[in-house]
Amino acid sequence: MTKKTNRAEKWTLEEKLEYTKRVIEKSDNVVCLSGIGVVMECGALNFNRDDVAYRIEEEYDRCPEEIMSSVFYNVRMKQFYEFYKTELLNTKLNPTATYDALRKLQDAGKLKACITYNIYGLAGQLGIENVYELDGSIHNNWCSKCGKTFPMEYLRDYDGVPSCDACKGPIRPGIRLHGERMRNDLLTKAANACAEADVLLVLGTNLFDDMVQFAVNHYQGDKLILVTKHDHFTDKAADIVIHEYVKEILPKIVP
Ligand SMILES: [Zn+2]
Repeated sequence: MTKKTNRAEKWTLEEKLEYTKRVIEKSDNVVCLSGIGVVMECGALNFNRDDVAYRIEEEYDRCPEEIMSSVFYNVRMKQFYEFYKTELLNTKLNPTATYDALRKLQDAGKLKACITYNIYGLAGQLGIENVYELDGSIHNNWCSKCGKTFPMEYLRDYDGVPSCDACKGPIRPGIRLHGERMRNDLLTKAANACAEADVLLVLGTNLFDDMVQFAVNHYQGDKLILVTKHDHFTDKAADIVIHEYVKEILPKIVP
């Protein structure tokens, strides 16, 4: 990622908010990249955090990445589903003002796409359209034998390994497991959306993240707005950097 020098580095928070609000006001093509921080603010777990990873390893005798892998899923489906149901499907999320702001942006005809690797399907459920879920969603599950689809609740409430009510085949969770490829059609759509974007909002993640880099590399503009609570050495590649909670900032910059 090569980028010009950050002209707004010395700006105050108010100046950054003012500038960002103005560019969004003028734009009719905003694309949002929604990272883990956005769903963490809703109450989701971050398995990359040391304390969470440590607890998982204590409780399940394996690290989260191993459990969430295609190899583990295929070989130990029972343990996979114990973890998946407890740690992911039973997580009660409380949508933040971030989603209201995104909807407002959409209603104004500005938001063209929302790209995410969050798997909770929140954006779609809350009325955001053109969501590209690069890591899939807990809501799109299917029978690996006959292809029948199942809602998240069917898996969550199933006693043991969820099986199809039509053919008894095991149900495949709708998320991308470690070791599996990302869907090419989604990657292409995401890349195209970024290439055409005027303003790129990167929320709750950093530019070091692989998927963010992929998206940012297709972006041609000079209005890359990064809103994230935690700083990172790659932040300076963004045009505007705001280190705050997304839910507190986004409503302020959406006109
Ligand atoms: Zn089936």
